[in-house]
Amino acid sequence: MRIGFIGLGNMGAPMAANLAAAGHQVTGFDTAAPCPEGVTAAASAAAACDGAEVVITMLPNGQILRAVAAEVIPAMAKGAVLCDCSTVDVDSARAVAAEAEAAGLGVLDAPVSGGIGGAAGGTLTFMVGGGDAAFATVKPLFDIMGQKAVHCGGAGAGQSAKICNNMILGVTMIATCEAFALADKLGLDRARMFDVVSTSSGYSWSMNAYCPAPGVGPQSPADNGYKPGFSADLMLKDLRLSQQAAETADADTPMGQLAAALYEQFVEREDGHGMDFSAMLPRFEKRHRG
Ligand code: NAD
Repeated sequence: MRIGFIGLGNMGAPMAANLAAAGHQVTGFDTAAPCPEGVTAAASAAAACDGAEVVITMLPNGQILRAVAAEVIPAMAKGAVLCDCSTVDVDSARAVAAEAEAAGLGVLDAPVSGGIGGAAGGTLTFMVGGGDAAFATVKPLFDIMGQKAVHCGGAGAGQSAKICNNMILGVTMIATCEAFALADKLGLDRARMFDVVSTSSGYSWSMNAYCPAPGVGPQSPADNGYKPGFSADLMLKDLRLSQQAAETADADTPMGQLAAALYEQFVEREDGHGMDFSAMLPRFEKRHRG
């Protein structure tokens, strides 16, 4: 397949490289990052789309996605599919979908879970919104870049699934970290705490698969000085998107709102910037009540 790939950063570069390694003809464009091996560099986003059956974008935010989409949609051939894998606000995903559809294109919002390791290893999970035909066209590419692609519904459904999932993740990580910090102060051994909670009703992915306590449970960023992993900055981005969506949809999300406020404080006014999102545990360790 001829593929245009726009946004070759931490995630986009390994995703594009995996598509090229699988034998697809990939043309890439990024305003700053170099093209990875196997990907042909184009001089502009529009040029990367020339003759492409699928155009994939992997960009920082919704504003940049809207600007790139305005440039590439007129350059794409009718019937081609625009597939955005960035994490962006639901409104931007829906606005881009409407423009692409009006231009006779297929369009998908397909944000990912799995991080840089998942992008490099081709083990991402894609959460996909858009039409059946577009999903069927891109599915073989999802199968190269990832291990699972869930078709969640129409335009915006992929972004909706992503921010709901990550709102749960942010909230459970905070709950897990504050429980460890409380257990410490109660004199409870962390390994015993893990043994109990990971097999009791307090278990979650945050505890069982990504334990925030160093030396406890499976290997996680906590065992590597809280180097990300999944950064607190990206968790803050996703929690803000969840609250923006909740605002628009008039949904009451008090825990998500508090999680967003705590990650904002951690990243912007404490030492959370550049740390893994599980570094909430050392943050709570240092704090006192009130
Ligand atoms: P990144 O900043 O490393 O990459 C983004 C790339 O887009 C950069 O190389 C930048 O130069 C390029 N870019 C910016 N504006 C552009 C434009 N107008 N035209 C072309 N290229 C442009 O970010 P990333 O970590 O690769 O993340 C990409 C997306 O994936 C984000 O939406 C992020 O939220 C999401 N995501 C990231 C992770 C992760 O662990 N890094 C996990 C899941 C989802």
